[in-house]
Amino acid sequence: MVHFWDYGIYRNPYKGDAVIRKHGILFVMTGASGVGKDTIRREVLPEFPNLVYSVSATTRKRRQNEVDGRDYLFLTKTKFEEMIKCCEFLEYAEYVGDYYGTPTHRVSSALKSQKNVLLELELHGARQVKRAIPNAVMIFVAPPNLSELERRLRGRGTDTEEKIAKRLERAREEINSAREFDYLVVNDSLLEAVKEFSAIIRAECQKAERMI
Ligand code: ADP
Ligand code: 5GP
Repeated sequence: MVHFWDYGIYRNPYKGDAVIRKHGILFVMTGASGVGKDTIRREVLPEFPNLVYSVSATTRKRRQNEVDGRDYLFLTKTKFEEMIKCCEFLEYAEYVGDYYGTPTHRVSSALKSQKNVLLELELHGARQVKRAIPNAVMIFVAPPNLSELERRLRGRGTDTEEKIAKRLERAREEINSAREFDYLVVNDSLLEAVKEFSAIIRAECQKAERMI
């Protein structure tokens, strides 16, 4: 079911006036590789027509099921470094031997047109965004435990043993940083995690301070 609050324009229940959001809300989802961020995002996005996912750029090799422009913008290292020089990223980071970054222009134009935007970032990129945009809503997704995380990473079947080891190493650092975030969602039962994630988005959309 689509609610009126998904559209960024609101009726003030007391006066009947239109209450208009100043600009969209930026949501940042962070969590170890394999914890289920993509899976949660795919479930949550259809519930919120006014929420758009920001497609990141990366130098990592495309996986078999991935589509250029939908899952990532797959770039060469040279192109990515050119974009860094031209300050075209809102944030970027090196992760397990590759670059990942958020092109600024799409995020800023979506926010200006009162769309809410969802970013999926590793820890260092998330910290950069929080510094640049302090009112971004920071959501950390944690696994129920590390052995389940390892099982999910292997089960996904997309990474070599060497990459899995490096991703697990980064996971420990990321999990220890959970307290830096505004919200924590444990992805044990997917259904519960999706419910909690959606509840956070709904609550943030209702904050009076974000509206005129
Ligand atoms: P991420 O985007 O965080 O790297 P994915 O969404 O690709 O993680 O999920 C990694 C693997 O874990 C996938 O195979 C996915 O189907 C599985 N998965 C996600 N959430 C759960 C869950 N709650 N319980 C069991 N498996 C899950
Ligand atoms: P994967 O290779 O599994 O798709 O992603 C590896 C890690 O990079 C994940 O933690 C993912 O959230 C993160 N990531 C994806 N896009 C970006 C981005 O634009 N910037 C940053 N900093 N991290 C990203």
